[in-house]
Amino acid sequence: MAKRDFYEVLGIAKGASAEEIKKAYRKKAKELHPDRNQDNPEAEAQFKEANEAYDVLKDADKKAAYDRFGHAAFEGGMGGGGGPRGGFAQGDFGSAFSDVFEDLFGDFMGGRGGPGGGRSRAARGSDLRYNMRVTLEEAFKGAQKTITVPGSTQCSSCNGTGAEGGAEPQTCPTCSGMGKVRAQNGFFTVERTCPTCGGQGQVVKNPCRACHGAGRVEKERTLSVNIPAGVETGTRIRLAGEGEAGMRGGPSGDLYIFIEVREHAIFQREGVHLYCRVPVSMASAALGGEVEVPTIDGGRSRVKIPQGSQSGRQMRLRAKGMPALRGGGVGDMVIELAVETPVNLTTRQKELLREFEKIEAENNPEGASFFKKVKSFWDGMKG
Ligand SMILES: [Zn+2]
Ligand SMILES: [Zn+2]
Repeated sequence: MAKRDFYEVLGIAKGASAEEIKKAYRKKAKELHPDRNQDNPEAEAQFKEANEAYDVLKDADKKAAYDRFGHAAFEGGMGGGGGPRGGFAQGDFGSAFSDVFEDLFGDFMGGRGGPGGGRSRAARGSDLRYNMRVTLEEAFKGAQKTITVPGSTQCSSCNGTGAEGGAEPQTCPTCSGMGKVRAQNGFFTVERTCPTCGGQGQVVKNPCRACHGAGRVEKERTLSVNIPAGVETGTRIRLAGEGEAGMRGGPSGDLYIFIEVREHAIFQREGVHLYCRVPVSMASAALGGEVEVPTIDGGRSRVKIPQGSQSGRQMRLRAKGMPALRGGGVGDMVIELAVETPVNLTTRQKELLREFEKIEAENNPEGASFFKKVKSFWDGMKG
């Protein structure tokens, strides 16, 4: 499939400013966010597309490369490699995603920006996404999983301030803390981001040597994650504050675990109910009998097959399904019988079946009435 133009994806013109790009992306991301489009794979694809476009256009270098060479600028480099390592999407994803989460969830997370809209050097860390695959058994019982989270953590040498010895950062002398400087350009006064402090309004006199002033250092962490019973594909678990560390004392981002439940060899899941197709012999289906079926808790249940059961007949085992994620009971297990036609018959079996068929023809009024209808249908077509 041909890749769409990134500007077109975000619905903006080629000369759009950084501010316009950001605005357009936020609008798209809100509109297409998976939380609002639960059963819409098209929106999901568009959401990814918008993320990819924004990922390039928000970055001045990547944008310049894209403007010159188009998609060719990233071929072989971007996306050519294998999947995200260890199920992680980080960095680029994290930052794009955190923008959206900030917009959607900013209110609950509270205290994101500096007080009174003042500029603050502290910046919140990115959110991280971890894709975790679990088995149906784990989804049934719940599980404790250990994951390794790459990324960064608050620098311990400077307590995240970015200044050597934890000294307070100082107001930027170039912009007096405004974060912006004005320059005369002909008749116009142009305002631009302060080159000294990068718009932060504050500078660190002696940057911390351990983190070079960033306030955080690269470090892997191991986390023990509690997967509650009842999770499904699409369930998201938020671990507040377990994302990337903030910059210069800012709060950490969050870690989102996206659950994917693997297909099971025996059970199919639909919400809290489980379905299990059980093959039964033609003889047991006709004569009735009993069959032993597995249950998701690892146990077994005996199920009575009523005489004359047809293929597709369903029987329900109450409360043998999956637990609901937030309490509220347990689903059922539905057994569906699949009557099997015998194959690889011995001579004796064939004899018995031929004899059976002979009697059956005299003894099957439903078959007889069907063929009577067929005959009158054919007769009608002739006339
Ligand atoms: Zn430091
Ligand atoms: Zn400044």
